[in-house]
Amino acid sequence: AHSMQDKTVALFGLGGSGIATAKAIAAGGARVIAWDDNPESVARAQGAGIETSDLRLADWKQFSSFVLSPGVPLTHPRPHWTVDIARAAGVEIIGDVELFVRERNLAGKNSPFIAITGTNGKSTTTALIAHIIRASGRDMQLGGNIGTAVMTLEPPADGRHYVVECSSYQIDLAPSINPTAGILLNLTPDHLDRHGTMQHYAEIKERLVAGSETAIVGVDDSFCAAIADRLERAGKPVIRISKRLPIPNGYFAEGATLYLAENGTRTAVASLQGIGSLRGEHNAQNALAAFAACRSAGLSADEINAGLKTFPGLAHRMEQVARQGRTLFVNDSKATNADAAAPALSSFPRIYWIAGGLPKEGGIASLSGFFPRIAKAYLIGEAAPQFAATLGEAAPYEISGTIAAAVEHAARDAASDGSQEAVVLLSPACASFDQFQNFEKRGEAFRSAVLALAGASPIEG
Ligand code: ADP
Repeated sequence: AHSMQDKTVALFGLGGSGIATAKAIAAGGARVIAWDDNPESVARAQGAGIETSDLRLADWKQFSSFVLSPGVPLTHPRPHWTVDIARAAGVEIIGDVELFVRERNLAGKNSPFIAITGTNGKSTTTALIAHIIRASGRDMQLGGNIGTAVMTLEPPADGRHYVVECSSYQIDLAPSINPTAGILLNLTPDHLDRHGTMQHYAEIKERLVAGSETAIVGVDDSFCAAIADRLERAGKPVIRISKRLPIPNGYFAEGATLYLAENGTRTAVASLQGIGSLRGEHNAQNALAAFAACRSAGLSADEINAGLKTFPGLAHRMEQVARQGRTLFVNDSKATNADAAAPALSSFPRIYWIAGGLPKEGGIASLSGFFPRIAKAYLIGEAAPQFAATLGEAAPYEISGTIAAAVEHAARDAASDGSQEAVVLLSPACASFDQFQNFEKRGEAFRSAVLALAGASPIEG
């Protein structure tokens, strides 16, 4: 059975995932009428055999549901016009994660479902959990915000594990979300452009863990700590995780060791020592969440440890790209704001830092605590003059302009550095769109420039 069988469904947003979702709904026996503001997307959908029609002119009484693609504004800065029409017509507005949840409910929920959200670390934690479950030999499906649209995954079956990254947007459009284990990693102000206030943003993220059978919550920030307390008072099984505090119950990290605490008694359960892809305190948080989730899905501690050790890491997140002599080159292109750049800057003592791009509000002022580690900064893109002004006398810098020039100059300077391990780090604290299509393209440009250096040897994931 399919939750939309014999129904007529409206769908808006025909990017790659929108097209895949429309096809999946149609394959389940529903009639889908789809639209997009971009005529090229509409034409592409028609080419893929999807029925299209201008939803402005449609009779909305025929629709049982309206499926909105990720990225189409639901509230901020203002609702998309389709949202206004759907609300006026009283048609429910849902996203692809809600469709998946309904499929799984119909199939009897015998497929463990781990859902991951938070401000930072979602993709890393999702990929890590998926890797551990796959390495244990279990049937595993990975999707959601990390890439693959959930409706294109293999259908729910007994024993099949789903690992799904959820943006707040997807949670907002998934009112019945009910994972077996829901993870809320952390909450810091970000994407407020999309959600208005921090309060509203936190409320949406809380919905994921409130709906889960077991809630796994990072308690290192005040928002999440309050959420864990609230859920527990409501009778929800809560597993707390802390990357820095020896909490009495839950999982916590001390250095590279992960502990399980029960009524104040700790047991070491894993070590991240020597796992390059999980360096840094922020990755301890990700690994703790993964450990708790995999245990609740029935994996043994040995199986989880085996998976942790072979995690290759994700590209563009503190990814070790190459060595040239004593210099290590690290690609952290995903750090598109100052907050996301902080973990990388805190992980290395002496940094030749490539930063800049399209600046975000606040620039790099919040990173000033790390400036003493900056051997020199190589500034690129539109942010260069602004970042230079912020650095001032606090760290040497040059305006390099492009990634290619920055890599060349940073490699030269690092090679003549006397310290043990000099690191050339791309952690831009900026969006990429002034010079690149996206952060992936920026990271690839960095990698090519590094590998073109004489004597550079790649580090394989
Ligand atoms: P997301 O999918 O939530 O954007 P990623 O796993 O892609 O998160 O990581 C994005 C950036 O945030 C990277 O630069 C990474 O170094 C940093 N980061 C990863 N995990 C955490 C964490 N638990 N807390 C804070 N920052 C993190």
